[in-house]
Amino acid sequence: MKKKTRYSVRIIAERCKGCMFCVSFCPAGVLGRDGTANARGYPLPCIASAAVCTGCALCQKLCPDFAIFIESNHVR
Ligand code: SF4
Ligand code: SF4
Repeated sequence: MKKKTRYSVRIIAERCKGCMFCVSFCPAGVLGRDGTANARGYPLPCIASAAVCTGCALCQKLCPDFAIFIESNHVR
């Protein structure tokens, strides 16, 4: 059986500066805002629709603070 790939979005909260580039540019609308902030008071993105992530890694490439990255998970 061919394995499918699913993607997990990881956000390193303490690095995030709340610019929301990742939220604005994600072409699949995976990311959103839920009103939470990190210890420095910067607003954090949240993962609103993980299942629709295509793994394009645009969020990872755009983040100026290396605070978001994508993991690939092979599932049956
Ligand atoms: S692009 Fe990076 S720094 Fe900006 S909100 Fe997203 S995770 Fe935070
Ligand atoms: S990898 Fe692509 S689809 Fe997934 S959250 Fe990042 S920008 Fe959106």
